[in-house]
Amino acid sequence: MAPEQVIELYRQDAALLDGHFLLSSGRHSDTYLQSARVLQHPEHAALLCTAMAKAIPEPLRRQLQVVAGPAVGAILVSYETARALGVRSIFTEREGERMRLRRGFAIAPGERVLVVEDVITTGGSTRECITAVREAGGEVLAVASIIDRSGSISDFGGVPFFPLLRLPVQSWEAADCPLCAAGGTPVKPGSRGLQ
Ligand SMILES: [Zn+2]
Repeated sequence: MAPEQVIELYRQDAALLDGHFLLSSGRHSDTYLQSARVLQHPEHAALLCTAMAKAIPEPLRRQLQVVAGPAVGAILVSYETARALGVRSIFTEREGERMRLRRGFAIAPGERVLVVEDVITTGGSTRECITAVREAGGEVLAVASIIDRSGSISDFGGVPFFPLLRLPVQSWEAADCPLCAAGGTPVKPGSRGLQ
């Protein structure tokens, strides 16, 4: 799947919009990105996650035994990617300060794991998920995401990273927002769920 096709699918589902937006962090941005809007369509989730799985080099892909992602955002991505790979899907959850496996999920010692996300911005939750998988005994072979917003992460401490689409998105503190400086007023699409 070409990067243009990923963008087209996101635009089609209004998961990617241009404008002047107030993010839940309080920052302003010229782009609205919300993967849940595209993932709500199972056929689109399957298309994206199958493409993401295929973007992992074949020798590495063949070794994968489990897909894991941090809840809530990556649960669907993990599930559909695991379906494409023919392996099982688990997810990590935050419990207090720590991310860990719950619900009786287990990883056999040395099991080879792909960690996935819908969107990676800072990579914080991805790193926490990697740590949780390792603490459970797994070996993290690769990280993959539909979209890489970071613009800078090339790997996770030596673990290779395979994003389907690299799309750095600009955001600013309100005081520094050029769109506000031009006289605009930001909008918050939907009452919540904007990240
Ligand atoms: Zn603004």
